Amino acid sequence: MSNALPATTIDPVERLKIVNPASEAILAELASADRNDLDRMVAMATDAFPAWRDTPLAQRKTAIQGIGRLISDHADELAALLTAEQGKPLAQARSELAGAALWCAGIADQAIEDEVLQETAERVVVKRHVPLGVVGAIVPWNYPVALAIWKIAPAIVTGNCIIVKPSPFTPLTTIRVIELAQTLLPVGVLQVIVGGDALGPWMTEHPGIAKISFTGSTATGRRVMASCSASLKRVTLELGGNDAAIVFPDVDVDIVVPQIFWMAFVNSGQLCVATKRIYVHEEIYDRFRDALIAFSRTVPMGDGAAEGVALGPVQNRQQYERLQSLLRETAYSGASQITPQPTPNSSGYFVPVTFIDNPPEGSRIVQEEQFGPILPLLKFSDTDDVIRRVNASEFGLGGSVWTNDPDLATEVAQRIDSGSVWINQPQYLSPFVPFSGHKQSGLGVENGRDGIREYTNVQTITRRPLN
Ligand code: NAD
Repeated sequence: MSNALPATTIDPVERLKIVNPASEAILAELASADRNDLDRMVAMATDAFPAWRDTPLAQRKTAIQGIGRLISDHADELAALLTAEQGKPLAQARSELAGAALWCAGIADQAIEDEVLQETAERVVVKRHVPLGVVGAIVPWNYPVALAIWKIAPAIVTGNCIIVKPSPFTPLTTIRVIELAQTLLPVGVLQVIVGGDALGPWMTEHPGIAKISFTGSTATGRRVMASCSASLKRVTLELGGNDAAIVFPDVDVDIVVPQIFWMAFVNSGQLCVATKRIYVHEEIYDRFRDALIAFSRTVPMGDGAAEGVALGPVQNRQQYERLQSLLRETAYSGASQITPQPTPNSSGYFVPVTFIDNPPEGSRIVQEEQFGPILPLLKFSDTDDVIRRVNASEFGLGGSVWTNDPDLATEVAQRIDSGSVWINQPQYLSPFVPFSGHKQSGLGVENGRDGIREYTNVQTITRRPLN
């Protein structure tokens, strides 16, 4: 008989390394959840659901408002962690957290009450919005806290329990926020689970989860929807975008350039509704391009934790490689690339601000979502033609129109096929304003009463007097 130890039958626990994208240093290592961990959390959420559903609305609102206050009270600690794992400059991390706190207050203010639809001598019909049960939230790495709160606040205020899966690239701040929030909630109402590539599909398949609210890429969104169909889960999908800005010749270039710059480059372009292509009228194209280049020279890029830095690295190596491949392909196509800033001389996933000067309409940089600090500038001369080019995209998330002519602005905005259009202003997002993607940019709505209703089933109760 051999003395050799039997081979272990327990798989080693997968460990996730969380990397600071500005330095590539490892910030933390976490054990990846397995299927049993998910089952345990779903069971806890299922147990917590009846009591939470029956908790008076006023108490659920108070809990959400309290979570918002906790985020504000811990803003310094959370912002430092968010910058370290996500890469965005500290000021932008603070503004993401301020947004998350604002969302908690705003969503709590709009809870859905019962509605009497008919009231006659014969019958009374009441419409209710009842919670679904256990919700799974799947979140990307660009705005980890804000996008988790976009799901947590409406789920909890409507009486659901929720399990949040942050991106494996950026789980740390979300874990901390949820730890704080759990102090205000019964056990099992809000949980966080972190895992590798297998975890998302386990959630979308899980029979104990009634709804998936997903934010991420269109490719993954399609897989989520296919998987959810097996158990007829409710789904909300907030997916990719390729937002266009249309700039007419009557604008004051010096006024609009800084606004449009930040619309495109906030968080180094890693925002679903970042401007991803700019159509500029040919009369002002050269002046606009030169002003944009000059402005970008005033915006320092570096480690987001350093004083004065306004642009950070991109969040992860895959995204960095993707952007490098887009740049190589654009170079082959002969389109001229303008890089006004030096790349920070350090390690980290830094891609300098790059403008692509009037590339062909069919090129990848125009047609795909770049999700980084590379921006194509395109010329137009005819309004119908530019609207056709803007709409010739599989995406339909946002877009903007810049002109002093209010009638033209409204007409063009109404003809853009997307969920949100902004006129003469950067992206305006609010807990009170519904946010949705058309075409391949999503399904369903987040925010506003329309978004809150997505965490409910409709129930009507029809009552007739017995005699
Ligand atoms: P991604 O689709 O790769 O991942 C998003 C999340 O889904 C992550 O948590 C990931 O772990 C998980 N996931 C991956 N495969 C899965 C699967 N098969 N089933 C279930 N979950 C799975 O997206 P990303 O790269 O993290 O984020 C960038 C994308 O997100 C961009 O396309 C951006 O436009 C989009 N986005 C959209 C919005 C919006 O509101 N429309 C907001 C932010 C980001």
